[in-house]
Amino acid sequence: MGELELIEYIRGLAAEGAPAWLEVGIGDDAAVLRVGAGERVLATTDMVVEGTHFESGTPPEAVGRKAVARALSDLAAMAARPLCVVAAVQFRAETDPGFCRRLGRALWEASRELSAPLVGGDVVGGAGPLSLTVTAIGLPGPAGVVRRTGARPGDLVCVTGALGGAMRGRHLSFTPCVAEALWLAERFDLHAMIDVSDGLSTDLLHLARASGLGLTVRADCIPVHPDVVALGGEGAEGDERVRHALNDGEDYELVFCLSEPEAKEAARSGVLGTAVSIIGTARRGSRSFVVWPDGRREQLRGEGWQHLVA
Ligand SMILES: [Mg+2]
Repeated sequence: MGELELIEYIRGLAAEGAPAWLEVGIGDDAAVLRVGAGERVLATTDMVVEGTHFESGTPPEAVGRKAVARALSDLAAMAARPLCVVAAVQFRAETDPGFCRRLGRALWEASRELSAPLVGGDVVGGAGPLSLTVTAIGLPGPAGVVRRTGARPGDLVCVTGALGGAMRGRHLSFTPCVAEALWLAERFDLHAMIDVSDGLSTDLLHLARASGLGLTVRADCIPVHPDVVALGGEGAEGDERVRHALNDGEDYELVFCLSEPEAKEAARSGVLGTAVSIIGTARRGSRSFVVWPDGRREQLRGEGWQHLVA
């Protein structure tokens, strides 16, 4: 069973009898809850597991920070402001107490550094690998909440920064694009947004599907991170480099859709010192494509990270 299939199954169950206070439920980067007169709160949760999201032997400082940063990246994707986090950790029962303390301190310090103080959680000992679950609570930014669903035909698709090769180390040290998202949301009418966690290809398809349209992406416009070259050495050239940028994942950049004039303005201005690249267009239709420099048009497939694929 694929990850998406399971989420769709649960989403189907949750659709019946959804509470009136639920503004955005399963299927976006975070849920949006109405909690009083005009007040809204966002909630999202994220898990990192030894052997899947980090290698055994990774320093606990890096593991704790990654767990917090990943959860906050989902708030950034909604252009929300972090309020706090709660965290649950499962250690192997025999884990050295010094390691446990270092991980606990890392969670606390990362949560303060990223302006979302740790306010609670749970610790269990078990047989399984080290795993951390961080739930982030946020508030809408001044421009409100940005969903995956609002892309319109004719919009241009933009991305911050550069993509690919994050497993070389960036996946442990990135700062979620919270400030960038708020900056963009204050200046532009963001129609739709998502963060790049699973991989650009997969996350573009999430956005296209949620918005009910197709995307056409130009391979030569996709910003390839220098880590791709470093990772692949001489072998990673041309198309291969772009495929890394499309599929490696864990970039934690933002993908967003703007009207053409606004996208061009964003590409000119960048965002807080980070480049913004226009990589494609949204149009009516259900399929998405990558157009390669030689004119080849290839259907965009989600070849990024997929959980639970049997
Ligand atoms: Mg996300």
